[in-house]
Amino acid sequence: MANAVELLVDAHALVGEGPLWDEREQVLYWVDILNSKVYVYDPATGENRGLDVGQHVGTVVLREAGGLMLAVQQGFASFDPESQDLSLIANPEAHVTGNRFNDGKCDPGGRFWAGTMAYEDPKDSGGLYRLDTDLSVHTIFDGVGISNGIVWSLDHTTMYYIDTLRQNVRAYDYDNDTGDIANERVAVAVPDDAGMPDGMAIDADGMLWVAHYGGSRVCRWNPHSGALMEKIDLPVTQVTACAFGGANLDTLYITSAAQQLDAADLARQPLAGGLFAIQMPYQGVPSFRFGG
Ligand code: CA
Repeated sequence: MANAVELLVDAHALVGEGPLWDEREQVLYWVDILNSKVYVYDPATGENRGLDVGQHVGTVVLREAGGLMLAVQQGFASFDPESQDLSLIANPEAHVTGNRFNDGKCDPGGRFWAGTMAYEDPKDSGGLYRLDTDLSVHTIFDGVGISNGIVWSLDHTTMYYIDTLRQNVRAYDYDNDTGDIANERVAVAVPDDAGMPDGMAIDADGMLWVAHYGGSRVCRWNPHSGALMEKIDLPVTQVTACAFGGANLDTLYITSAAQQLDAADLARQPLAGGLFAIQMPYQGVPSFRFGG
């Protein structure tokens, strides 16, 4: 890539994650999961405002009716960014101990998908869940290691999903009328030496941008051929997620983590946990909002 990666916020996030561009307000939402924070970054001013959620927060999405929806330790919730009031809506893992919600996004039909992972030594105790616009919650599948990036194809017929521990991106046929998925297959197999696939965005060409945790990079993958198309190097190893934003949706915002690094690692990568951006020769697409 010809352009340079720029540090926007030297945030030292423990687990920076979940970037999401709000094209109406022209701000970027993102989270620090283990510090229980939602951040609102305004590129016009450089201000990065922190909101206290009160429990670990895996991801943030916008609500069509206004305000935010979160996937928190205890399930799906709504959140008022002004009052910072959290209202729990549904917890499909109320019977499970040791898990928390992690990444998630809204589908083209306005449903909110998010999955879970174990706090300690994750293997397969997580699941993927869907909160519909009538606030009913549905288990999509269990047996998930670390539930992460999720996006939908531009024609709304395919869902792409990352369980980090599978070391791949899987594709599913997606029915936008019902929210049903079927026909699981591997779209991208990520090499072991490239880091672990984490958060994901889709661009206006239908290509996937995947953050590689432990791999110091974001890569553009072709989900039709499985081929690697581009690579962006970051000055930090724990690259967690990315999202297109900016007035023309041609800025790629990239989050990172400072967890699972020892003192020597942190000395080598003092910007770990920072929020980064790079100007792109590609455009993203607007994110979907929760319709309930
Ligand atoms: Ca993640």
